[in-house]
Amino acid sequence: MTTQTQATDIRTTSGQGRLYDSVLDTVGNTPCIRINNLAPDHVQLYVKAEFFNPAASVKDRLALNIIESAERSGALKPGQTVIEATSGNTGIGLAMVCAAKGYPLVVTMAESFSIERRRLMRFLGAKVVLTPKAAKGFGMYQKAVELAEANGWFLARQFETDANADIHESTTAREILGDFEGRRLDYWVTGYGTGGTVSGVARVLRKERPQTKIILSEPANAALVTSGIAQERGPDNSPAVSHAAFEPHPIQGWTPDFIPHVLQEAIDNSYFDQLIPVPGPQGIEWSQQLARREGILTGVSGGASFAVAMQIAKAAEPGSVILCMLPDTGERYLSSPLFEGIPEVMTDEELELSKSTPGNQMG
Ligand code: PMP
Repeated sequence: MTTQTQATDIRTTSGQGRLYDSVLDTVGNTPCIRINNLAPDHVQLYVKAEFFNPAASVKDRLALNIIESAERSGALKPGQTVIEATSGNTGIGLAMVCAAKGYPLVVTMAESFSIERRRLMRFLGAKVVLTPKAAKGFGMYQKAVELAEANGWFLARQFETDANADIHESTTAREILGDFEGRRLDYWVTGYGTGGTVSGVARVLRKERPQTKIILSEPANAALVTSGIAQERGPDNSPAVSHAAFEPHPIQGWTPDFIPHVLQEAIDNSYFDQLIPVPGPQGIEWSQQLARREGILTGVSGGASFAVAMQIAKAAEPGSVILCMLPDTGERYLSSPLFEGIPEVMTDEELELSKSTPGNQMG
């Protein structure tokens, strides 16, 4: 079955073999973990668990590189305010990096994203400016541009900056190469938000692991890439209009209402072998399954990527090895539909258990 420690041996650990100078040095090097209970028997299915990053998502990588590459180029001055439009994880990552490095941070965010994301950013010292739900992702982006111009702030531009895919090329992709060195890797499965993960990792896989099939996914009701409709852009590569194929979807962090410039690289270079749309409710379902059956706590986008990975796994030839990205932690969704139906009060079954012995019953 699994290669877990024998029941007779107690597990031991021995530290990281180093001391860390900053929380920022703990970004990356996330583990690839075998799926033991949900995966079909004829394949090996692994997940790359990005919630092991210090602020619990894949976007810690990008946040760190946006700030450090702007420091290197001089675009960001000491003490200058940083601003970004973000559905949450980039904001949380930036808040962590800005706190550690001493930059003030302002985040613009549509009111529709989960409450704990705003509170987390504020907890990390950032200011969060909400924008109306009706103005969609484009609205929160326009607000960030406006505030940056009015105040002379550094706009992080996660959807356009080279710093995004570059960090996945130099970290995420290298980690995958290292961990699968000398092993099969038949499929790599990911979704996209900015497209940084897919563009950066694909640059490396296409060169170093050309046999690996890259599977990209997007929400079934917001299948922007599948639609084939090109994105209109401004001179700075930012979106000029909201994309015609967009509809609101429950996979937070995936597919904004435009095709990002960072993702366009993956489209233009045919960086993916298959594009598989996934209905939002399947993301919720598989996130719950990963928690209950594997003890792996990931968000809706992780569940959606995993839904696609399971589809690939079922059809794959025996012995295939599949790696699926899990971008963030499920704890980020406590107030969202992911946790709907998870009761706060005791269920009938729990009450029965309580009453089954005499002590400490609830009144
Ligand atoms: N899932 C979640 C929860 C995210 O926050 C993001 C980033 N927006 C992604 C997936 C997609 O990552 P990327 O921006 O690298 O395409």
